[in-house]
Amino acid sequence: MITVLKPGTTEAQKSHLIDWLKEQGLDVHVSVGQDYTVLGLIGDTSHVDMDLIASLDIVEAVKRVTEPYKQCSRKFHPDDTVVDIGGVKIGGGNFALIAGPCSVESEEQIIAVAKAVKASGASLLRGGAFKPRTSPYDFQGLKADGIELLLEAKKITGLPIVTEIMNANHLPLFEEVDLIQVGARNMQNFELLKELGRIDRPILLKRGLANTLKELLMSAEYIMAGGNDKIILCERGIRTFESYTRNTLDLSAVPMLHELTHLPVIIDPSHATGVNRLVGPMAAAAAACGADGIMIEVHNDPPHALCDGAQSLTPDQFDDVARKVSAIREIVAK
Ligand code: PEP
Ligand code: MN
Repeated sequence: MITVLKPGTTEAQKSHLIDWLKEQGLDVHVSVGQDYTVLGLIGDTSHVDMDLIASLDIVEAVKRVTEPYKQCSRKFHPDDTVVDIGGVKIGGGNFALIAGPCSVESEEQIIAVAKAVKASGASLLRGGAFKPRTSPYDFQGLKADGIELLLEAKKITGLPIVTEIMNANHLPLFEEVDLIQVGARNMQNFELLKELGRIDRPILLKRGLANTLKELLMSAEYIMAGGNDKIILCERGIRTFESYTRNTLDLSAVPMLHELTHLPVIIDPSHATGVNRLVGPMAAAAAACGADGIMIEVHNDPPHALCDGAQSLTPDQFDDVARKVSAIREIVAK
């Protein structure tokens, strides 16, 4: 249930109402917007007298929220959430290009790629240290050493880093990671989500291979329910019957999620297509449909990449894509 307060409601009136609602066993989530303050009521609201609340002088409207997700719903928080990642903002009109290799492979590789993508306009550096691979015989990532190398690249370039966590026990290794990624395969690892809800660090939550947008939002809700509201959602392609591409990019997820939630939404055209030459067109489409950011895999030597070489762009290709994305964003903003 949400209660919209009238403009001009005093702090004293607001806290009086909040205290009264809390006395009824409800959690109250307060969202202060430009014009209105919205109180999101969480818990069993079946016994709450809606008519009584609606009759108060300071109340503009009272509505039931029927969706199972509450805190990530736009109804609870009408304004866009802006997530700050070590000084780089995403959401609410702030756009970020995230780029880097699928996996951190060596010091030379990550530093060369970090410098190149920065020069082309990327504001965050990605790189997998713990890799979720389909085969246990494939490269599993450099693990803790990979995170160390990312931090070294950060020191040199100033780019905040994003890398994937697969196990909550690894959290101590992620102390200095600016944006912690939950990969598609772990979108519904609820114990991991609960742990990430307890920390104060931005989370990049990727949509599962075969998950609906509602399920994605419910996973975000797990993190928010623990108290962490710094979440960025990522559409990275879903499983369909199509086999020419690795996945099918569900671009309509961007405007649909923007309606449903206040959280920023980014697109990963690399995992969505799996094909190097399709990454540029899909990145352009993501910029055109209003994505808050784009995450692209870039490798200095794609044919020899230890993971996902076929979908990785060279630094020159990334430069070209970054330029097109920026041109499209200018047109869309007009
Ligand atoms: C990745 O971004 O490195 C990754 C493994 O992506 P996904 O979880 O979307 O497959
Ligand atoms: Mn990859």
